[in-house]
Amino acid sequence: MNALTIIGGGLAGCEAAWQAAQRGVPVELWEMRPARPTGAHRTDRLAELVCSNSLGSRLPDRASGLLHRELRALDSLLIRCADAAAVPGGAALAVDRVRFADAVTAAIEGHPRIVVRRAEAETLPAGPVVVAAGPLASPALSAALEQALGEQNLYFFDAIAPVILGDSVDFTIAFRGSRYGRDASGEGDYVNCPFTREEYERFIAELIAARRIPRKEFEAEVEQGVKTGGAFFEGCLPIEVLARRDPRAPAFGPMRPVGLTDPRTGRRPWAVAQLRREDAAGERYNLVGFQTNLARAEQERVFRMIPGLAGAVFERFGEMHRNTYINAPTALIPALQWRLRPDVFFAGQIAGVEGYAGNIATGWLAGVNAARRWRGEPLLTPPPETMLGALCRAAAEGDPKRFQPVKANLGLLPPLDPAPRGKRERAAALAERAAQALAAWRAREFLSAEAPAP
Ligand SMILES: Cc1cc2nc3c(=O)[nH]c(=O)nc-3n(C[C@H](O)[C@H](O)[C@H](O)COP(=O)(O)OP(=O)(O)OC[C@H]3O[C@@H](n4cnc5c(N)ncnc54)[C@H](O)[C@@H]3O)c2cc1C
Repeated sequence: MNALTIIGGGLAGCEAAWQAAQRGVPVELWEMRPARPTGAHRTDRLAELVCSNSLGSRLPDRASGLLHRELRALDSLLIRCADAAAVPGGAALAVDRVRFADAVTAAIEGHPRIVVRRAEAETLPAGPVVVAAGPLASPALSAALEQALGEQNLYFFDAIAPVILGDSVDFTIAFRGSRYGRDASGEGDYVNCPFTREEYERFIAELIAARRIPRKEFEAEVEQGVKTGGAFFEGCLPIEVLARRDPRAPAFGPMRPVGLTDPRTGRRPWAVAQLRREDAAGERYNLVGFQTNLARAEQERVFRMIPGLAGAVFERFGEMHRNTYINAPTALIPALQWRLRPDVFFAGQIAGVEGYAGNIATGWLAGVNAARRWRGEPLLTPPPETMLGALCRAAAEGDPKRFQPVKANLGLLPPLDPAPRGKRERAAALAERAAQALAAWRAREFLSAEAPAP
């Protein structure tokens, strides 16, 4: 039997490669960088994080925290590397992106059953295959997929947030702290730039009026909803789009001041812009939630209006990017197998799953199932009560007419009966049920059915 081909050495592809190789399957992992860049990746490392350095909340009663816990229980390579590269991030699992990617690259390149091919897959090869080419899949592969899928690929856009040098922040104004004191480091994981009401209103007015980068015609088509029903993934809206919808929206979203007290005034600010460390030393900070499509000069002008950032030095500007994904409900079953070609699996963003943790998790399942098919074993589908099972079902069983990438959230889990009244109690009960379901599933299907790697 052929080696398993995995297209894409990103989050999903690396996890898939590792899981398949650990199960005794020879893997050929195709990664087109550095010869062919994507426009968002900046290095040749495998598993490079393109934007935020956070894998989401660590709290076990939050969707991403639940996924982290499941991935740990399932012996995920990437979550192990993330834990080892963690930097203080409050309630978030934030990582040093260089250490994280270095660790994944070393593990993958050092695996005796994985061969890394630094080349672009321009067509869909003979099976078995895992397609994990991500939201920025190369145009040639996208065209091949479009032809094979028998329908148009869907495009829409994500925006990334700027990164600012730590020593350019004015700490006579900005202060350290996490909302509700949820610090992992004990010294204030976030840097908070506090706004008065007047400052906020001036800032929002400039933000709304600022010049944006003009987008190509087909982007406009997407924005009008011709292809996707909406231009932006709602969880990653550019800050200026959010502000345009409602000037108060940022103050209730990424700029919400709840759980914070400005030490200069002793009061809660009207709004805050939060900076989160990009590295353990705090040399670079991500402007949390400020993904944007403003022109670079406008980003400098407008974001320097943020109190404490008058002298901000931008290490990276925010940008908008293409996001390629298949119509998962028509293409996939919840085991992430392609309906048309059972020797092909999809994983990560291109499979219609949004967010780093979800991309890793679907990489895990696609790698395991590709390996099981290779070995002649039945495919696995995690129970719907687990976050992984719920996520895969939400993608594969979503509404094909209105499908947009799915991000892990507790609402995907089947409701509890009876349901505890409080939100927190409900979340805790869902998390507990997920843990039990995963443990029972592992014992029943997974551990017992899987032979150890030869
Ligand atoms: C600009 C941008 C910002 C994002 N920001 C965030 C964020 O802050 N937080 C978050 O949770 N999610 C974010 N996402 C969404 C998503 O979680 C990430 O893109 C994530 O990296 C996707 O994981 P993946 O494994 O599916 O794809 P990737 O990690 O992108 O990996 C795909 C790999 O395939 C390679 N490749 C593509 N085509 C080919 C080919 N034909 N042959 C060989 N190799 C190929 C690429 O070079 C890449 O290395 C963002 C997405 C984009 C586009």
